[in-house]
Amino acid sequence: MSEMRLVVVGAAGRMGRALVRAVTESSGARVSAAIEREGSEFLGKDAGELAGCGELGVPVTSDALTAFAAADGVLDFTAPKASLWFAELAAQARIVHVIGTTGWAQGEDEPLLAAARHARIVKSGNMSLGVNLLAALVKQAAKALDADFDIEVLEMHHKHKVDAPSGTALMLGEAAAKGRGISLEEHSVRARDGITGARTQGDIGFATLRGGSVIGEHSVIFASDSERLTLSHHAEDRQLFAKGAVKAALWAFEKKPGFYSMADVLGLSD
Ligand code: NAP
Repeated sequence: MSEMRLVVVGAAGRMGRALVRAVTESSGARVSAAIEREGSEFLGKDAGELAGCGELGVPVTSDALTAFAAADGVLDFTAPKASLWFAELAAQARIVHVIGTTGWAQGEDEPLLAAARHARIVKSGNMSLGVNLLAALVKQAAKALDADFDIEVLEMHHKHKVDAPSGTALMLGEAAAKGRGISLEEHSVRARDGITGARTQGDIGFATLRGGSVIGEHSVIFASDSERLTLSHHAEDRQLFAKGAVKAALWAFEKKPGFYSMADVLGLSD
């Protein structure tokens, strides 16, 4: 099989740089183009040099259309509006689109299903093996423990993160809701402030911490009157997510158009 040509969009961002390094270090794929928005200060700079892995001969451009037409896949950790646009282009080019972007408003990601009729989309709020395994364990625990156990999801990230709760926290909340057989939308409490009243049984609560350079910490707490179970994951290096994204792209290369999750890539879906 020939080397997979991958476009990194948002190539100058924190994750974009990690993705360029991960592709460079992987066998079976290479960076074919690097994209930033029109007017970005990084246009013309070499993507490899920006990522700290030496010159790649791939200058950052804003021409996604041309880049997608000459690629097999796209790695996209940007922002929801940008990812929607990139999904349209990936569908036109009939290529793989790996989406790690988080911060989606309710229903905002629906157009991705239409794009997945032509593109092979893999979307996940967290691309790490550990977190996807954690989600499977959370679902199992929520199923096994009765409603006397209150479920709370706690997360901490670096001070630059713009969305809350994190995509991973929501993914873990969704796993807990599935295990309980309830709708997360109807039972989630995303913030508490002031005289909130007592906790309603069956709610799934979220708490968010922000500060410093924390890459990602998540805990799901099951608390009853007599015991407490905590399932946790700590990300030590954002390269973890980038490697997961490259793995997802290589996995999807051979797949039919469709909408996939990281659990599919890792063989954890049921
Ligand atoms: P970041 O440093 O701000 O990087 C985002 C990059 O995307 C920036 O360079 C930004 O450029 C660029 N961008 C935004 N809109 C664009 C457009 N229309 N065209 C081209 N480039 C565009 O943020 P980050 O920390 O890398 O995180 C990015 C996303 O990945 C966030 O949603 C984050 O939560 C998510 N994330 C997911 C995982 C996972 O495993 N799924 C892990 C870590 C992070 P400007 O600066 O010009 O806007």
